[in-house]
Amino acid sequence: MSSANSAPVEATTTLSLKGKTALVTGAASGIGKRIAEVFADAGANVVIADLKLADAQATADAIATKGAKTLAVAMDVTDEAAVEAGFALVQQRLGAIDILVSNAGIQIVAPIEEFKFSDWKKLIAVHLDGGFLTSRAAVRQMIASGRGGSIIFMGSVHSKEASKLKSPYVAAKHGLEGLAKVLAKEGAAHNIRSNVICPGFVRTPLVEKQIPEQAQALGISEDEVVRNVMLKDTVDAQFTTVDDVAQAALTFAAWPSNALTGQSLVVSHGWFMQ
Ligand code: NAD
Repeated sequence: MSSANSAPVEATTTLSLKGKTALVTGAASGIGKRIAEVFADAGANVVIADLKLADAQATADAIATKGAKTLAVAMDVTDEAAVEAGFALVQQRLGAIDILVSNAGIQIVAPIEEFKFSDWKKLIAVHLDGGFLTSRAAVRQMIASGRGGSIIFMGSVHSKEASKLKSPYVAAKHGLEGLAKVLAKEGAAHNIRSNVICPGFVRTPLVEKQIPEQAQALGISEDEVVRNVMLKDTVDAQFTTVDDVAQAALTFAAWPSNALTGQSLVVSHGWFMQ
C-alpha cells in the first residue's frame, strides 16, 4: 500500500558498503569485531582499531582472508594523540573514512557509595572522551573529503534506562545520545549522519565478566543474574546477539539519506520499548 503524498523508498535487496572505508573502535572483540566482519562482507575496507596492535592485527588478518582490504591500528580512544595518529595513518593508507563506529567500551560495576572516583573517570573517558575524540577526527576527514559519511555510536539500553551498580556507564551511555544529536545537527550541512545503537545484553567478554561480579555485589547466583537481572524485562528471555547489533550498524552505515539521523535504535528483545 502506498500513500499518495509520500515518495516510495526504493527497496534494495542488499545493503552495500562497496567503495566505503569504515573505522570501528574496539573491533578486536565482541560487538565491534562482528560489525567489522559484516561491513567487510558488505564491501567496505575496514580499519580495526583497538588498544593492542596484536589483537587488532589478528582480527584484521582474519577478515582479510575473505578478500576485504583491512588495516589494524593501535588506538587508545581516550588518548588524543593516539586517536589523531590513528586517523592520520588511515588517511595516508586508505584515504578519508566514510563510516565511524565508536564502539570501544568497558564496564565497571559497584554501588555508588563504593564507586572509586578513579574508576568513574576511567569509564567516562573510554565512552565519552572516546566518542568525542573519534567522532571529531572522523568529522574532520568527512568534511575535508566532501563526501560526508555516517557516524554510529554504541549506546545501550542504558542510554534509556538505569540499572543498579552502573552509575558511570548509564551516565556515559545517556551522554552519547546527546553527542549524537549535536553531530546530526552540525553534520547535516556536510552530509554527515549520526546515530546511536542501543543493544540489550549481548554475551561478549564485557558481559561474561559482569555475571560473577553482579552475583557477588547483589548476593545472588550467576543464574539469577542472567534470569532476574539481565533478561528479566525482555519479551522472550533471550540475549541480543552480535549479529543483531551488526545488522543494525549496517543499516545506519548504508542508509543513503538524512532521513535516518539523530536517531537511536534499541535492539534488545523488547527490554526497552520506545
Ligand atoms: P568487549 O569487551 O567484547 O569489546 C570491547 C573492546 O573495546 C575490546 O576489544 C577492548 O580492547 C576495546 N577497548 C576497551 N577500552 C578501549 C580503549 N580505551 N581504546 C580502544 N579500545 C578499547 O565488549 P562488547 O560487549 O563488544 O562492547 C562493545 C560496546 O558495546 C561497548 O561500548 C559496550 O558498552 C557496548 N554494549 C555492550 C553490550 C553487551 O551486552 N555486551 C550491551 C550494550 C552496549
